[in-house]
Amino acid sequence: MNFQHVCVLGATGSIGVSTLDVIARHPDRMAVHALTGHTRMEQLAGQAHSSRAKVVVVPDAAARERFLAAWPGGAPLPEIRVGAQALADTAADPQVTTVMAAIIGAAGLPSALAAARAGKRVLLANKEALVAAGGIFMKAVQQGGAQLLPIDSEHSAIYQCLAGEAPAQAGQAVAGLRRLLVTASGGPFRSRPLAELDAVTPEQACAHPNWSMGRKISVDSATMLNKGLEVIEAHWLFCVPVEQIDVVIHPQSVIHSMVEFIDGSVMAQLGQPDMRTAIAYGLGFPERLASGVGLLDLATMGRLDFEPPDLVRFPCLRLAYEALRNSQAACVTLNAANEIAVDRFLGEQIRYTQIPDVIEHCLDKLNGRAAQSLDALDAVLDLDRETRSLALDYCRTAPRG
Ligand code: NAD
Ligand code: MG
Repeated sequence: MNFQHVCVLGATGSIGVSTLDVIARHPDRMAVHALTGHTRMEQLAGQAHSSRAKVVVVPDAAARERFLAAWPGGAPLPEIRVGAQALADTAADPQVTTVMAAIIGAAGLPSALAAARAGKRVLLANKEALVAAGGIFMKAVQQGGAQLLPIDSEHSAIYQCLAGEAPAQAGQAVAGLRRLLVTASGGPFRSRPLAELDAVTPEQACAHPNWSMGRKISVDSATMLNKGLEVIEAHWLFCVPVEQIDVVIHPQSVIHSMVEFIDGSVMAQLGQPDMRTAIAYGLGFPERLASGVGLLDLATMGRLDFEPPDLVRFPCLRLAYEALRNSQAACVTLNAANEIAVDRFLGEQIRYTQIPDVIEHCLDKLNGRAAQSLDALDAVLDLDRETRSLALDYCRTAPRG
């Protein structure tokens, strides 16, 4: 493994913090080159200081001032780059070998794409990039000669289960594969009476039973829209058709996902629910690196449970499957409408149970776009913007009940 110079896009987030933790354990093999953050400039300054980052990217001039004010001194100030274009430019910087794409939402798409086009080792946490632009992204990886390693725990698990299998032809699934079994915890509302879901609060939705994550993905886990995004992500990453991707609820989150082959063999990847395992796998591949994650004590745990997902309780999962069957445009709309809906729910402007309503409304309204060709990033971003404005209008006018 060559020495890696890492750019962490979204360093101040949950994945960003875990990534810096793993990098700091291996100073002989890797170092931080660049960090980016959108808010929390004090945190970014602290991270840049302790990791000796050479470059930071901040969103605007005001953030730059806050970063400077928070700089602890005593070490050379990193170069401060400003704005969205600087994110993509830094991801493609010739001095960077490895890019952790951990910005949340479709905002992370252009920089992840720039890393792929520039042929980096791309550690992809930002699943929204594949949901909104799977075709464009996978083509960029191929043409740019990038090495794509999934960071989402389910996809890292599947990747690990497939390691050593007969390589697929470019653009085809691994030979002999029957099904992907994507596991889901079922989130905090797996067994709450349906009648109570109308009144759940953002705090309750963000209290995930097993994983500690950012607020947006925590709500997505509660609605299981996250699992829907992951099904779409798996479709693109592993070239598997939607009919061969199943979701199974596994409340303990110990099995991170499974792969079933045509001979009946099922491979599973297990571990503690800690993202540092997937991050260390991506950073170290093909070698294994220590990640700080402790022992898995199955005997103490005693049992692992499984159940099928209930699509009445989790309409967002149904909508995601439908979008994947329908069209690329529907996937863009699903993702953008969800981002607005979750933001409004976190701001207490709509109820939890209205999240699928917002998505369904936008999918219905923009249904005519199914045939639209989305092979250019601009077309994706246009549809993304149009969906957001439709979703915002709907949230403004929908009665909160
Ligand atoms: P988070 O909200 O904790 O952090 C998001 C990061 O993105 C922050 O650094 C923030 O400053 C930055 N950011 C936000 N808006 C931005 C914008 N408009 N432009 C530039 N930067 C912006 O999110 P997270 O939980 O770390 O998730 C990051 C990504 O990883 C998401 O795509 C998520 O789906 C995925 N993921 C997260 C987990 C997890 O355990 N947290 C697991 C699997 C996948
Ligand atoms: Mg996941």
